[in-house]
Amino acid sequence: MSAEQFRAHGKQLVDWIADYLAGIESHPVRAPVRPGDIRARLPESAPEHGESWDRIQADVDRVIMPGITHWQHPSFFAYFPANASGPAILGELLSAGLGAQGMLWETGPACTELESVVVDWLAELLGLPATWRTDGPGGGVIQDSASSAALVALVAALRRAGRVDADRTACTVYVSAQTHSSMAKAARIAGITTPNLRTVDVDPDTLAMRPDHLEELVAADVAAGSVPTMVCATIGTTSTTAIDPVGALGEVCSRHGVWLHVDAAYAGVAAVCPELRWINDGAAEYADSYVTDPHKWLLTNFDCSVLWVADRGPLVDALSILPEYLRNPATASGEVIDYRDWQVPLGRRFRALKLWMVMRWYGATSLREHIRTGVALADELAGWFREHEDFALLEHHPFGLVCFRPLWPALSHRDAETATAALLARLNDSGDLYLSHTNIGGRTTLRIAIGAPATTREHVRVAFRRIEQEYLALREEQAA
Ligand code: PLP
Repeated sequence: MSAEQFRAHGKQLVDWIADYLAGIESHPVRAPVRPGDIRARLPESAPEHGESWDRIQADVDRVIMPGITHWQHPSFFAYFPANASGPAILGELLSAGLGAQGMLWETGPACTELESVVVDWLAELLGLPATWRTDGPGGGVIQDSASSAALVALVAALRRAGRVDADRTACTVYVSAQTHSSMAKAARIAGITTPNLRTVDVDPDTLAMRPDHLEELVAADVAAGSVPTMVCATIGTTSTTAIDPVGALGEVCSRHGVWLHVDAAYAGVAAVCPELRWINDGAAEYADSYVTDPHKWLLTNFDCSVLWVADRGPLVDALSILPEYLRNPATASGEVIDYRDWQVPLGRRFRALKLWMVMRWYGATSLREHIRTGVALADELAGWFREHEDFALLEHHPFGLVCFRPLWPALSHRDAETATAALLARLNDSGDLYLSHTNIGGRTTLRIAIGAPATTREHVRVAFRRIEQEYLALREEQAA
């Protein structure tokens, strides 16, 4: 592709994206396709000869778009948000345009130094400790995902426990039934056996991890000769945004020398708002590592997950392997960060650009406004469910997630479960909105996660009315 062709087609594509985002509400939220539908529209083999951009672009509309679930749609309420925004999209484009690969400071000085600056900026915006800044003993790094962050934090914890090059059969990791599955995956990858992944009880009302049970499990493991290696506390669990008591769990960790990883993947960015900083209580004192994902709720396109460590030593020691072909004077000087030593892959994209552009374009004030809008809409929605006699509301909703359950007064537990699943399917099949579900105390519970930048009060109101209507229609059908 020549520079002139790139310029022309690039402009065409930027126009296309702008039109797409402006007209996103014309699409069904969830892709109305069946498994195999998209593949069936694609040729068996790659073309022998190059094709025109017009043909490629036409196939985006014809083949790809029908298979897109529109995460930026204002009525996308499933899972958690995965915000995109103009400045982040442009940051991605610039990163691709530069094609820089920042595995070492030497191969990407700006890539490395901008990353250190933006993670320091973000730490400050979230009120995280100054000692986690990259000019202190700790430091931050952008990972592809909170899952990768969990894995590298665990490897650092193993290093601190002296188990990187040693037998790990005695190492134990502590989660709750509400902890994200990425921690179990990290443990599996890191060679922690399944029985050594301990499940700490949660409080039945708050679904938060119980420090007294953690203490019991850790003490028993120590007595049995095990090596308690890591505890994962969550601020904002995936299922219901439960908040583990980080300070109390941290006290247990600190007594027994266990690494405390704090998973604030979804909710951590909410601390840009001073009134929500309490969510991080205990993290400054006790967390050895802390992750939050600007790619969820902070207007930054996937992927952008920020991991901080209180002490970078174990992380870098665990992941640094220096072959001859990577040696260079800057690394040898010890004056630079080589972010390859903070992650699993060697190569790395210039992810800092999009976060930098997001922070500069919006400024802290608009980032706070974005979070506050989500929290306020969730609050109002929760109020409507609370007042409605046909729905049970989960009262805990500190962020943008509201969990509720239709009551189906005339139905048995089993039939109510089937009816709730039918309601969810009917809503999602409509293409007008998209919710997801979880299970709380053996009951299917529906989740509405508010946080797409385009979502307004009206979208939330329409969603609530739609849920109510479909519920009443289903109830009538069942009674007939
Ligand atoms: N931790 C929590 C609490 C999450 O909610 C999620 C995703 O929803 C993850 C981890 C995994 O995030 P990622 O996709 O960045 O790996």
